Amino acid sequence: MKSKDKISYFYDGDVGNVYFGPNHPMKPHRLCMTHHLVLAYGLHNKMEVYRPHKAYPSELAQFHSEDYVEFLHRISPDTLVDCVDELKKYNLGEDCPVFENLFEFCQLYAGGTIDAARRLNNQCCDIAINWAGGLHHAKKCEASGFCYINDLVLGILELLKYHARVLYIDIDVHHGDGVEEAFYHTDRVMTVSFHKYGDMFFPGTGDVKEIGEREGKYYAINVPLKDGIDDGSFTRLFKTIIAKVVEIYLPGAIVLQCGADSLAGDRLGCFNLSIEGHAECVRFVKKFNIPLLVTGGGGYTKENVARCWTVETGTLLDTELPNEIPDNDYIKYFAPDNSLKIPGGRLENLNSKSYLSTIKMQVLENLRYIQHAPGVQMQEVPPDFYIPDFDEDELDPDERVHQHTQDKQIQRDDEYYDADNDNDHRMFDV
Ligand SMILES: [Zn+2]
Repeated sequence: MKSKDKISYFYDGDVGNVYFGPNHPMKPHRLCMTHHLVLAYGLHNKMEVYRPHKAYPSELAQFHSEDYVEFLHRISPDTLVDCVDELKKYNLGEDCPVFENLFEFCQLYAGGTIDAARRLNNQCCDIAINWAGGLHHAKKCEASGFCYINDLVLGILELLKYHARVLYIDIDVHHGDGVEEAFYHTDRVMTVSFHKYGDMFFPGTGDVKEIGEREGKYYAINVPLKDGIDDGSFTRLFKTIIAKVVEIYLPGAIVLQCGADSLAGDRLGCFNLSIEGHAECVRFVKKFNIPLLVTGGGGYTKENVARCWTVETGTLLDTELPNEIPDNDYIKYFAPDNSLKIPGGRLENLNSKSYLSTIKMQVLENLRYIQHAPGVQMQEVPPDFYIPDFDEDELDPDERVHQHTQDKQIQRDDEYYDADNDNDHRMFDV
């Protein structure tokens, strides 16, 4: 028997204090609720709890364009009126509003995922958790779908310094388009996304036919689903595909995005998953005993998000939690029954057996083209921690980013997708 996993958990209360606006479905307060529930169940006693560092602009620019990072740094609700053109350019506004402390919010959730990856790289833990992370829609040069900085891409880039191959798994109800796009041309990252597809559901990508390109061909997997999928069909499909992927791809590390909008009753989602079904996927991935970085993601019925991520923290700790929620600051949100588990939903399951079987066969067929796990010539490993030797407030952030980007040209040329050089890589109608 393997001794228990060592777990690092990242949290900073400030991530829960920002406000997207009164009618916006994203409520960062769900992160406070999750953390308090984790504490109420005493789970903090079984893992190492860290406050993440605030990621430096230079770290964010490892994936994002310098001008975009600089703009996020500069913009505030007070200066909005002067920046109409740039807001449009960077897709900021309705879905991705500019609010007080936006940049610090990005620095914290991205810092958590980067720290998580570094602790895994240095073998300080077996599993690292950052529920504030998982903002999978953000693009290199723009915000998208409530996401500004793509912490997942930054975490994976960090893991690639130590691991030849990284597997990314996404169980958010939405397609993990930002992460897929970033690594669409490389075989060093395999992305696997299970999501609702069709009926103009956001973001509109994620057809089973989108499989990657160039070196990355067959290294992007999409599992498009219809409304109402239940625990049984989802977990069966998930286990079959993930088991095969791990067997063939032999990843050195796994990143698991646990968006909770795939749960029944989510304000934006349309699946029937119970928390047990969702957590079963986490349990299954943990069993491979491969270094594992776990993040949050979507989730818009906030009491259920807190329930789900608490149960999954317990799952990762091999700890079964009593169903009666212990008293905590947010107990009123779990009324009237104060129970941890939620039942599956009752939407009609539009995923017929034959539909799911066809999707499964298509995915497994594509996996047959992968003969063996691709190797990589490891290059000089850049340092984990970059401590800037300047006063943050004095230098022009533009210059700062530029300098560090030059310092850290580490990626292979085809390492990740460069939106500036290729605008037609997607094949919606193939
Ligand atoms: Zn989502």
